[in-house]
Parts: sequence; structure tokens; C-alpha cells
Amino acid sequence: MVVLTVPVAERRAVFKKLLALPDNRVCFDCPQKKPMWASSTFGVFICLDCAGGQRRLGTHLTFVRSVDMDEWTPEQLEAMKLGGNKRARLYFRDNGVMDLHQRQDLKYSSSTAKTYRTKLQREVQASLDKGTVLEKEQTKKEKKEEGDGLHRLMQGLEVEKGGEEVLPKGKKEEPPRATSAPELAEYGKTPPEEEGEKVSVPTPKKAPPEPKGTLSAGMLLGAQRRSARASWTTRRTSTSSSRSP
Ligand SMILES: [Zn+2]
Repeated sequence: MVVLTVPVAERRAVFKKLLALPDNRVCFDCPQKKPMWASSTFGVFICLDCAGGQRRLGTHLTFVRSVDMDEWTPEQLEAMKLGGNKRARLYFRDNGVMDLHQRQDLKYSSSTAKTYRTKLQREVQASLDKGTVLEKEQTKKEKKEEGDGLHRLMQGLEVEKGGEEVLPKGKKEEPPRATSAPELAEYGKTPPEEEGEKVSVPTPKKAPPEPKGTLSAGMLLGAQRRSARASWTTRRTSTSSSRSP
């Protein structure tokens, strides 16, 4: 399975916003300013020195990423959005970890750290699943329309054999709308508008292009699911509508 990562432009935009928050401008483990590293396990920003320290603790305790040099998955980025230094600080203090500058091994193996990590990861999953639920509802609606359209198509073929097979209008999958044409061109992709003019033959067609650069994490996941579904739909359509020899 391909591991999805958030496009660089989107990642940078997210971090720009997050790093503008006062609490995120100071390392979560020490008083150093302008942290450019993070623990995606705890959703906190840390300085280079403390990143090194956390890395030595092992990935079973904390997963360290560079804000600007590493690739980030939607899950990891979501943890930073939902977490943040302020929220972690309040949680740790409320749960008895008063000294946030204490030894990292003690801090991150504490029961407070464990419960916070579990809580945050659960929220990340729920947040990403929420996007998936919306996606599924959309799918159901599309499927229904497709079914009706296919039914009409089959009826039409029985009456008029040898006639040109034309897919019902409105069947085309909507590609994610997040990029303008110039942006797409920049990535060497065909704008979806042009593609729409030749979607009338039920031969297996390529999945809609997945514009990069400005997709949100949820949309990116959605795009992958959509294209998987699109190829499945195409297969099904071409099998069921092919006439016997
Ligand atoms: Zn630090």
C-alpha cells in the first residue's frame, strides 16, 4: 500500500499557521524559541536538541519529524492541528506533570503521556474518519444515480441494438476541485474541464487526475478512494454493457 503524504504546499501552509501560535513558538521540552521539529505522537513542537533527545527514546514512545524537511502523512499533520503545545501543556499540568522541562525519558514514559497520546491519536482517527463518512454518503448518492443511468442505458440498448453506446449525462466523476487551471498546468496535468468533453464512450477510462499541491489531507484520501472507485465502476460498466458476440 502506498503511504500518502501531504503535499508540500499544504503542509507548509498548515505549519505556518500553527507556528504563529504563541505556545508553538517555544519548545515543548525546554525554553528554546522557534522550534522547527515536532513529535507527531504528541502533536508538539520541539527544538533541534530536544528532537535529538526524543529520537533516542524510540519511536514506540514518540515519533519525531522535521517541520520543513520530512514528509508528513495526513494522520501526523492532523495530530499537530488537533494537538499543539498549549493543549499538551494544559493536559500534562492538569494530570500532575508540572515540570515540562524535566528529563524527557521520564516525561514521555509517564502515564499522563500515555493517556494523552492515546487520546490524541483517537481524535486524529475520528477526525479523518469523519471525512470518510462524508465521502461515503456522497458515494451512495453517486452510486444510485449511476445505477439508474446504467438501467436506462441497458434498456436503450435492447431497443436499439447496434446503436452507439452513450453513457448517460452526469455520470462523470467529479474530480476534486481544489486547483485552478494554471496550477494544474504547472503540475503537467490536464484541466478536468477539457477531459469532460470526451467522456461519452464506456471504454475503460483513466481515473480523474489528482491535482497536487492544494488538497487538504482529507481530500487527498478522498481522491485516492474516488479513483479506486472510478476504476471499479468502469470495469463494472464495461463488463455489463458489452454485447455478446
Ligand atoms: Zn528544546
